[in-house]
Amino acid sequence: GLEVHSDVILKKEKSANPFRGKHNVLVERLSEVHESRGKLPVVSEEQAVMEAINENPVVIICGETGSGKTTQVPQFLYEAGYASGNGIIGITEPRRVAAISMAKRVGYELNRSQEVSYQIRYEGNVNPKMRIKFMTDGVLTRELASDFLLQRYSVVVIDEAHERSVYTDVLIGLLSRIVILREKRGIPLKLIIMSATLRVEDFAENKLLFSVPPPVIQIDSRQFPVSVHFNKRTPTEGEYLEEAYKKICKIHKELPAGGILVFVTGQQEVHALCSRLRETFPFRESRRCPSGSQVEETGKTKMKGVKFKLDAYPVSALDEEEGIAHVDDEDLLGTDPSTNAREATFQAAAEPMYVLPLYSLLSSDKQALVFQAAPEGSRKCVVATNVAETSITIPDIKYVVDTGKTKMKLYDRNTGLSTFRVMWTSKAGANQRAGRAGRTSAGHCYRLYSSAVFNDNFSQFTPPEITRRPIDDIVLQMKAMNIEKIINFPFPSPPNRESLMVAEEELLALEAVKLLKPGKSAEVGGSRISALGKIMSSFPVAPKFAKMLAISNQQGLTPYVITLIAALTVQELFVESWNDGSEQSEEVRKRHGYLSQMKKRWIGTGYTKMLGDLMVLLKAVGAADFNGATEEYCKEHCLRLKAIREIRQLRQQLANAVSLVTASDEVLINPQTPPPNELQAKLILQIVLCCLGKKIARKLPHSVVDANKPEKHRLKHSYQTQNLEQLVYIHPNSVLFQDEPEYILYQELFEGKKIYCRNVMEIRPEWIPKFLPQYCTFEKPDETAEPFFDEKSGTVVCQLSSTFGAHAWPLPA
Ligand code: ADP
Ligand code: MG
Repeated sequence: GLEVHSDVILKKEKSANPFRGKHNVLVERLSEVHESRGKLPVVSEEQAVMEAINENPVVIICGETGSGKTTQVPQFLYEAGYASGNGIIGITEPRRVAAISMAKRVGYELNRSQEVSYQIRYEGNVNPKMRIKFMTDGVLTRELASDFLLQRYSVVVIDEAHERSVYTDVLIGLLSRIVILREKRGIPLKLIIMSATLRVEDFAENKLLFSVPPPVIQIDSRQFPVSVHFNKRTPTEGEYLEEAYKKICKIHKELPAGGILVFVTGQQEVHALCSRLRETFPFRESRRCPSGSQVEETGKTKMKGVKFKLDAYPVSALDEEEGIAHVDDEDLLGTDPSTNAREATFQAAAEPMYVLPLYSLLSSDKQALVFQAAPEGSRKCVVATNVAETSITIPDIKYVVDTGKTKMKLYDRNTGLSTFRVMWTSKAGANQRAGRAGRTSAGHCYRLYSSAVFNDNFSQFTPPEITRRPIDDIVLQMKAMNIEKIINFPFPSPPNRESLMVAEEELLALEAVKLLKPGKSAEVGGSRISALGKIMSSFPVAPKFAKMLAISNQQGLTPYVITLIAALTVQELFVESWNDGSEQSEEVRKRHGYLSQMKKRWIGTGYTKMLGDLMVLLKAVGAADFNGATEEYCKEHCLRLKAIREIRQLRQQLANAVSLVTASDEVLINPQTPPPNELQAKLILQIVLCCLGKKIARKLPHSVVDANKPEKHRLKHSYQTQNLEQLVYIHPNSVLFQDEPEYILYQELFEGKKIYCRNVMEIRPEWIPKFLPQYCTFEKPDETAEPFFDEKSGTVVCQLSSTFGAHAWPLPA
């Protein structure tokens, strides 16, 4: 054990910045750390880096992945005293993985782990001793709503700016102004933008952002040559994983020592390929498994004899988007290490391979394994998603196998339909991947696609995220900072005009903002946040969920709404049916029949039945709570234990967020809470209706069914939505699949063989004008209409005719 030494103060340099400590801080590092730091290119540039930072308000640092930017620059700042005055050092990361693992690493290297904390959306280890804070870019954006000048910070480092995540882009826009404001008040803030060597012009030469172009420090790193080998032939969609497997086998059998890094697209592929490789190249002698690294995931089907059968699941299911940290339907929490605490022994075999998975949701102790050397006599093989492209640098890699694929979430701006699609990465991405092979010596990159495909089908860069996804969440955050005309904001790359319009409209419909100039659209005339919007912006969830929380405070509903949001956020609570024709799938299919029986038992009658799939979610979580959520219980009831655990964690974190906002210490989570009663179910349904708004579909009347269409039987079950031309269907996994209510509300649409509605509820049409008047057109009663006596209200009224939405569905009076 090494003791933390007391600071030795060197009177070397005085600083005029009251926010910065006046002194340099001496840090005692472990000799091992000394040694590894010494090899990093950025360390030999310390002086140049610090001079630029001391003399300029904004500095851009550009350097090859692995040159030491993320781990070292915060330490330079710390040692220069930037954290010993009134302010702390803040570093933002687009990926949660990086925020956690880099905080740990820097704490370790500084030998002051308590002073280096992390904060991601729902969790963190922030403590009073903290001087360096790693966080996701979303977290810092939220902090701006309560402290626009970021007075706690003396420096803000925006890391991985090349990733161009929405929040990073917006932060850079905001910080370009905050730096000026802080300067004026005499408490200067330093802004450091760090990026891999890609496209920094968007920041550096953007006059809208910085009137004086900031200096760009280029870190030259020793990059060893990498020979790039293209495949002659490009494998088809279904083959690339098999192709990767073969290539790895070949490298392992024929080529000299050196680690292999393979890029695939998602968690599921990582696991499938890992299991296959472990089966082919098990360890020679029987040995204890290092921290469960070689243990198969519990509950995962053994891949023996089965090749890669991945498309049995829809792409989005049970899999993550490897991307930025704040996407609301991304799985939220890491794997619980205890799940896999099983010990394993390895069987005898010829060529040992040390196979490690790496993806963003992997628990951090398992992630840490990739930094260690492989056991003697074995070869390291890391099967990774694009986290290994720039955020995490794995040592000792000599061979890169690149499928060229990446998983992207695509949105259709007009329809709001989102799909996960496996696509070609960009040229920049592929080159980053290849570069991973040349960190420690000359290396090789095997591209499993032809050079023609690379040249013709790969785009130069992946376009910035802000141009690719809906931006209602970020617009709400900006409104909470009183930015009324988003269109004038200095974005590094402005969002598409249409998505801005959609976001403004959506927030208007949720009543989170008010128009500044009635009659003018919000994106032109501007809009201002409402009192409701302010509350919504303080909940760390998407605007529609934030509104559910904000209006849930009645009849004891808040706990249910919290559970619902948690359950809707964690994907695939239930074990889904398989359909790959394999032996196992037969059993699972039987179970699936069982599953729908199970689900049916969880809905009641009346309103609790109308609450449909959401009632099932509530009941399932409640039942698991009540029964202690054991593995047994979950198996018996077709629940995914991991999902239940995630829901419980998320729920607790949401409950904390709500208590924080409402400043009450009401107990929100009680495992013994009974399911909602009739009245509560009705209210929950109406709350959800208010917040999901347009996501209403109506069953197609039989008269519309077109007899000429070849699949007319399908049309019988089809629904019309508000904004899609194509017809949609209730997913067979829904409890309302057979009921086919006339009006349904759904959480989302997704595209499989057909377009399906997921998480379906039934609503009464007469609720529409009441709860969603913003989508209805009301007409004055015409002259000839006869007034009549309304029994319900007991008064004489005139019939209002009204219609709903784009298709002008007539509404009941
Ligand atoms: P950059 O930000 O420029 O891409 P980093 O600062 O992330 O570079 O990485 C610098 C070096 O630190 C790399 O060689 C990487 O392997 C090493 N490193 C990062 N995290 C850890 C860790 N947890 N354990 C061991 N080495 C690590
Ligand atoms: Mg980095």
